[in-house]
Amino acid sequence: MGIITQAIDFLASNPLYLILGILVYVVLFLLSIFMSRNKSGKNPFKFDARKKPAELVIDQAKRDKILKQGFAAKKLDSSYDAIVIGSGIGGLTTASILAKAGKKVLVLEQHDQAGGCCHTFVEDGYEFDVGIHYIGEMQENTIVRFLFDQITQGQLQWTPLDQEYDKVAIGKPGEQKLYSILSNKDAYKQALLKHFPKEEKAIDGYLKLLVEARRSMMGFIMVKAFPKFIAKILIKLGLIHYMSPYFKKISSKSVQQVVESLTNNKDLQLIFAYNFGDYGTLPDEASWAMQAVLANHYLYGAFYPLGGASEIAFHIIPTIEKSGGKVLVRAPVSKILVDSMGKANGVRISKTGGDIDLKAPIIISDAGINNTLHKLLDNEVAVKSPLYKSMTNKHIKAGMGCLSLFVGLKGSSKELGIKGQNIWAYTNADVNKEVREYYNKSEEDFLDGDFPLLFIGFPSAKDPAHQKRYPGKTTCTVITMAKWDWFSSWKDERVKHRGGVYEEKKELMKEKMWKQVLALYPQLKDCVEYMDLGTPLSNNFYIGALEGETYGLDHNMKRFASAEVAMNLRPDIGVPGLYITGQDLFSAGLVGAAMGGVITAAACLNRQVFNDLTNLKKECKKSQ
Ligand SMILES: Cc1cc2nc3c(=O)[nH]c(=O)nc-3n(C[C@H](O)[C@H](O)[C@H](O)COP(=O)(O)OP(=O)(O)OC[C@H]3O[C@@H](n4cnc5c(N)ncnc54)[C@H](O)[C@@H]3O)c2cc1C
Repeated sequence: MGIITQAIDFLASNPLYLILGILVYVVLFLLSIFMSRNKSGKNPFKFDARKKPAELVIDQAKRDKILKQGFAAKKLDSSYDAIVIGSGIGGLTTASILAKAGKKVLVLEQHDQAGGCCHTFVEDGYEFDVGIHYIGEMQENTIVRFLFDQITQGQLQWTPLDQEYDKVAIGKPGEQKLYSILSNKDAYKQALLKHFPKEEKAIDGYLKLLVEARRSMMGFIMVKAFPKFIAKILIKLGLIHYMSPYFKKISSKSVQQVVESLTNNKDLQLIFAYNFGDYGTLPDEASWAMQAVLANHYLYGAFYPLGGASEIAFHIIPTIEKSGGKVLVRAPVSKILVDSMGKANGVRISKTGGDIDLKAPIIISDAGINNTLHKLLDNEVAVKSPLYKSMTNKHIKAGMGCLSLFVGLKGSSKELGIKGQNIWAYTNADVNKEVREYYNKSEEDFLDGDFPLLFIGFPSAKDPAHQKRYPGKTTCTVITMAKWDWFSSWKDERVKHRGGVYEEKKELMKEKMWKQVLALYPQLKDCVEYMDLGTPLSNNFYIGALEGETYGLDHNMKRFASAEVAMNLRPDIGVPGLYITGQDLFSAGLVGAAMGGVITAAACLNRQVFNDLTNLKKECKKSQ
């Protein structure tokens, strides 16, 4: 009795707590309604779909039968449950989960093969990957691996890179200091301690911060996955901060702030942030939440698909087809159709023979927010999305473009002494200053001086099947960031017909990039048999990136630190019947975009798909 009286007295003199208590109760009540409401879609993860992996299909004609099914009106059925625009991993993940729940899904891809950033191309007998160089969390027993196993029926196999999967080179070409990045937490720490023996406290502090960030991620996921009205209440009342420290403590700090709080050593600061090129935003503009997600992603090693990156789409497409769906290429969607009530109900495909309109109750765009709002929707519809305003006031914006150098080398990776690892090369540890100076250059002078950042990888050395597929050949991919503005004057010219000035510029870029590579790999000097370069215009043409952006939306602070912006970057963007999937929902990366695919499937099916997945995983573990 005494306790109750004391409690009443306490609440009477502290009415704020009383209000807070009532609010928490209301939110929990609403949540309980949400959690227990009737499930409308079928469980896509009802049974374990994994089968013993079949032998690798090497015959290109057989692969093309899956990956290059050209669009033709006569191939279409009379109706589909959903249409997906774009066959990147986001689109394929959503489509395959819907298919596993019994839905018939049509995926339309503008390029001549499926996969988006996961596609590969062959030139002069060399196969290159485009947007898959290494993937984390693919060791057995992770939820990510389990997801990929389920949507590929266990057919996609992963091979680990070298334990020293990344190296960081800091300094002018020829004078670089090399640092090793090793997989597994302890090995990672020991390798760094060898380079920085006095920095144990900083390294431990960094690893501790990664754990803290990982635990807080629920806050970020909740505002996207909960129904919007609940997410809004949580944000407006500040309750989200009681549920997770994500927005207050983690995402509101820049990467640079965090690394500077750990150490004064400039090289170590860069080592803690070296792979920011994986999402393309400078450490002083990027949220610590993004860097922490990335660092956690690779903490236990990096992996590569056995048989190359095109294996990803190759093994997901049959899952979509099993439920009557199709993945058709050379199918550029020019418009999302919206009925008189403002509901998206179809797409228009523009072919040389004329326009074809296709209808479906659910339209899903994997083409990115930028394309969806500024190209595919009529302006009067697009403005209804809160994201339109966020883009207009630059809270979210298209990310940076890139240059990709593709080099074919004579000799196997073993013969050339190349390992399954990447090098990240920086000309200076002060990357913010150095790279920003480079970005501030104009179209005329950006090629003066060295490239301040290069990613160098060898796909052929990461894939144990490569020698069987392409004997005696090594491939190298080199990437650096580049601005769309430097190339936009050629945007209306036809691909491969952009004229002499463009070609001259390309030659110069190739020469300069390769020279910097040779400073680290002098043994490759006389081995080049093929070399070509992709610019932001290539990203525009081959992966449909509107402003040549490498990773979709920029990964700036606002995108991750503003709960409101994070909430609005969700599957339902304010146009009924239309959903967004892919990298713009969570983050860039195969796994980031696939997770976007999962929450979009959940929104379309109106059920907790992620719970279905984790439940199946638990059941499989029990029955092992
Ligand atoms: C150079 C580069 C290197 C990368 N390296 C890595 C890496 O090593 N590891 C990693 O995890 N991630 C990496 N990424 C990132 C990762 O590949 C992407 O974040 C992810 O694959 C994006 O998937 P998505 O489905 O969101 O988009 P995308 O793969 O871009 O797919 C979008 C698809 O939509 C299509 N499309 C666009 N408009 C239309 C239209 N109007 N009609 C029809 N189709 C349309 C496009 O052609 C494209 O196929 C890299 C990306 C790039 C560009």
